Amino acid sequence: MSASDTRKWAGLSVLAECRKPMERRDPWNDWDRASASQLKTYKECPRKWFISKILGVRTPGTEATRVGTRVHEAIEDFINYGKALRDPVALPAKDWLWPIFLRNKRTDDIKVEKEFEITFDGFNLSGKIDIAIFTDATIVDHKTTSAWKWAMNEEQLAEDIQVHTYAYVFFQQKPEANHVKIVYNYMKKKKGKAQRLVTIALSREANENFMRAYILPLLQGMEKDATKVLPLDVSPNEYSACGKYGGCPFRDFCHARKGVTDRHETRTDYVQARRKKNDETTTEINHCKSRIRWRELEERGSGGARSRNQASKAARGFGSS
Ligand code: SF4
Repeated sequence: MSASDTRKWAGLSVLAECRKPMERRDPWNDWDRASASQLKTYKECPRKWFISKILGVRTPGTEATRVGTRVHEAIEDFINYGKALRDPVALPAKDWLWPIFLRNKRTDDIKVEKEFEITFDGFNLSGKIDIAIFTDATIVDHKTTSAWKWAMNEEQLAEDIQVHTYAYVFFQQKPEANHVKIVYNYMKKKKGKAQRLVTIALSREANENFMRAYILPLLQGMEKDATKVLPLDVSPNEYSACGKYGGCPFRDFCHARKGVTDRHETRTDYVQARRKKNDETTTEINHCKSRIRWRELEERGSGGARSRNQASKAARGFGSS
């Protein structure tokens, strides 16, 4: 590997400087990038993505996410700083991680928790890669699971959004490469803790086809839906995701089960529900109210009668009169 190759890989985030910023059509809409997890959520249910990413409604972390974060941090500390790997969930993967740790001490071609920012067809994609081994054309992603039945197999991996997003990042960084190996490092966190590796090799052509056929339409949908005002304005995915993972946390905001169709009623409900759930985040609530008000003024045709500035002022005063 040449020194310039290493610099290229190490400087993934430098690409941010040359990205083309997306047009912002709404002063309160600051969505300007997607990640693999956003794409997955949007595919699951566009309304769920809208509530969490555009309206910024937060949900408390779950035990599963806490364990995942803890394991990722333990592995990062082990490979980067040689800190003893004692996390019980990560421990079964230690023998497999050991050569990566040793190699990381001798070379600089391994990047751990490397942030990236690239563009794809004018859309910004960002995220973090758990382990990238540049000279081996290998990308590793750590996953914790409660049972093996939830782990993906090779066929599922070959159609996974995250896999293709990471492969795309790799191919952008290494134009001469035609293949990349993606390894999902599964660690079972419940009874009978163990490690299981699921590996696939992806060609550049397969990756490009997937990005065009599946990821581009999702990004285009996100761009369109990011300008919407209320959850009700964004079509859900036929409610198939409502019961997944113990139930969608946004039912209060979504009205999917109430069958509400009155936008005015929904708006009032939404602001009230949001205030109740997030009373500590007053700024966020005001932000959302302003955003809703701004869009309403536009919808009423105020764009012709008022300047954007006047409408914006009126929007900021929303709720005070
Ligand atoms: S409750 Fe169902 S339709 Fe509503 S946001 Fe959640 S997944 Fe989507």
